[in-house]
Formats: sequence, structure tokens, C-alpha cells
Amino acid sequence: MSVFSHTDFDHHELVAFKDDPASGLKAIISVHNSSLGPATGGCRMFPYASDEAALSDVLRLSRGMTYKSALAGLALGGGKSVIIGNPHQDKTRKLMLAMGDFIESQGGKYISAEDSGTGVSDMATMSERTNFITGLMDNDSEHGGDPSPITAYGVYCGICSAVAYKGGDLQGLRVALQGIGNVGYYLARHLIRSGATVYASDINRRNIDRAVNELGVTELALGNVLSADVDVLAPCAMGGAINTATIDSIKASIVAGAANNQLATSEMGDALLARGILYAPDYVINAGGIIDVYYQSVGNHDVDVVNEHVNRIGDTLSKIFKRSKADSTSTSIIADVMAEEIFKQPAPNFKNSETVAA
Ligand code: NAD
Repeated sequence: MSVFSHTDFDHHELVAFKDDPASGLKAIISVHNSSLGPATGGCRMFPYASDEAALSDVLRLSRGMTYKSALAGLALGGGKSVIIGNPHQDKTRKLMLAMGDFIESQGGKYISAEDSGTGVSDMATMSERTNFITGLMDNDSEHGGDPSPITAYGVYCGICSAVAYKGGDLQGLRVALQGIGNVGYYLARHLIRSGATVYASDINRRNIDRAVNELGVTELALGNVLSADVDVLAPCAMGGAINTATIDSIKASIVAGAANNQLATSEMGDALLARGILYAPDYVINAGGIIDVYYQSVGNHDVDVVNEHVNRIGDTLSKIFKRSKADSTSTSIIADVMAEEIFKQPAPNFKNSETVAA
């Protein structure tokens, strides 16, 4: 298995491997870039088909965290870790303690948090062995622990920004959500409270029923959501919703949702631009969770301060939209360029949000 010549290797600062037979832990920690601050990102547990697939995932995800935190205006670098294993079968206390030891052995170069396959209780176990864990707070339903409510608030702010950029407002706006799970539910609630009409599809009957019964969401058939006659399409399920098979049927003039990796390929960003569809880059609009984690990690978790920072996702998107128009370049490419302008040349004494807000 090659590392330096791996297609996803991007001059990562650190890639560490752990094989601990005593606990069964097989894990990788990856630090992409720490020029803005300690590399921070979730610990994912997944039954990867191969070591190669795990390495690819951790390299890609840690790089993504560098871009996300930079554009979120956070003094954090990009890092991620993966545990190779099935979270439903292989998770033991011994394994989580061993992961805590592995994180501790990096001396603070990598700070971990929950991710898919791990939760707050796993982080609590790891924190018995290391101080380099954040996102442990579980103090109320909107902040700490489950990042979905604050992520949803950020996506809501991003949708408001995109709609305002197009000259509209939320009253009477029609929004279609593909996936109404954790983030989708809270997003729909914000939108409906602001006067929007929300449509949604979900492969999970329980989730769609909850949204219909509790929020008054209108159900759409699974095959109709991406082509729905709405103003905003919000992908909130899995990645790759915007692809060669779906792009031509999109009727919404805005694509703005929580899902990671919404564009199946980078060409989809150009295709959306060519069709006059305004795309809110996924890692910019879904940064609410890492913003919340940042304030927990620096021990300054004031809910108003966090909300105010998350609110600025809208300002960042507005800058991206304007520059995309001025340069006739897709918003996804502009976002990458703007992130690189921040983390490749960090201002002296970089403090959260100063660079993006400037
Ligand atoms: P979730 O699993 O709670 O919700 C996803 C929902 O999508 C589920 O209800 C699932 O049944 C549904 N779904 C899956 N495939 C579907 C399909 N083809 N059509 C319709 N529905 C489908 O996940 P979540 O936490 O709400 O996250 C949603 C997305 O946002 C994910 O892509 C996630 O990576 C991303 N994201 C989440 C957070 C967070 O704070 N939770 C942060 C950043 C990004």
C-alpha cells in the first residue's frame, strides 16, 4: 500500500498507523495541514473493505477538514481518524481506550471528535486516556453531543443567503429535501417557521412520517425529489446527488443542503453554473458542527457566540457567490481557492473568523 504516491495524498503533514493486537484496534490518524491550528476532525468507525479504502478515506476526509475549517474562519487545521471495524459488532471499551492511547501518542497534533460510527459515549471513553478529544458536551438539545441541530442551523443560514442573493426571501419559498434524518428534520423546522413550504423524501419510513406528522412536511416520492418543481433543492442524505444522470432534471434554481460530497464530480459544479443554478458548496454550508466543536475545544462555549459565528456561514457564501459571478467560475472551485488563500498563507496571529470576515 503506497502512501506518498497515493492519489489522495496531498502533502499531508502526518499519517500514523496503529495495529494493536491486544485490543483489536486497527486505526489511522491523518493530519493534512495544521497551519491555522491543531488538526481537528472526527473519528470514523467503518468496516472498510480494505486497508487501502481506509487510507483513502482518512486522507480525503482530513484534507476536507482543512478546507472546511479555513472557510469557517476557525483557528483549526484539518485532521481525521478512522477505525477499521464494524461499529455494531467490533466496538469494545478496550478498543476505544486503545484509540485514546493512539490519539494521545500524537501529542496534540490531532484532536478528535465523534463521527459516523462513533458517538459521545465513545469520546468519553477515549478521553479517559487522552485530553485531545472535543465535542464531549451534552448539555442541551441544540448544542454539544449531537452536532445535527447546529449543522441544520448553518444550512438554514446558507439557504437564506442563497435566496437573498437571488433577490427573494423565505416567505412562500418551496424547498425539497432529499433525506429528512437528523439534520433534515431540524432544517425543515427552521424553514417552516420562516414561512417556507417543505417537501421531502426519505428511504426511512419512520423519518418521513415524523416530519409529516410533527412539522407538516409534504412527502415526495423518492424518485421525484431531485426533479421537484421547487425553488431550493437541499440534498440532506448521501453524497453524489448531483451527477450526470440527475443534473438535467433539476428544476430548482438553488442547490443548498447538508450532505457531504454533493457533486459526484467536480465537473458538476461547472454544469450547475452553466445551467444558472446557484450551488452552495457543501463543506461551507455544513460547517455548523465544526464551529460548535471549535468553541468547545477552546473552552468558550457560549451558545450566542456559537450561533453568531454559524450565522456568518451566510456571509461567506455570499462572498463565494459574488466572486463566482465575477470570475465566471463555479462556486465549488471558488470555495477551494478562497480556502487555500487562507490556510496556505495564514495571517500572523490568525484568529477565528477574522480572515473570512475581512
Ligand atoms: P442521517 O442519517 O440522520 O439522515 C440522512 C437521511 O437520509 C436518513 O433519514 C436516510 O434514511 C435518508 N436517505 C438515505 N438515502 C436516501 C435517498 N437515496 N433518498 C432519500 N433519503 C435517503 O444523517 P444526518 O446526520 O442528517 O446527515 C445528513 C447528511 O449531512 C450526510 O451526508 C452527512 O454526512 C452530512 N453532514 C451531517 C452533519 C451532522 O452534523 N449530522 C454535519 C455535516 C455534514
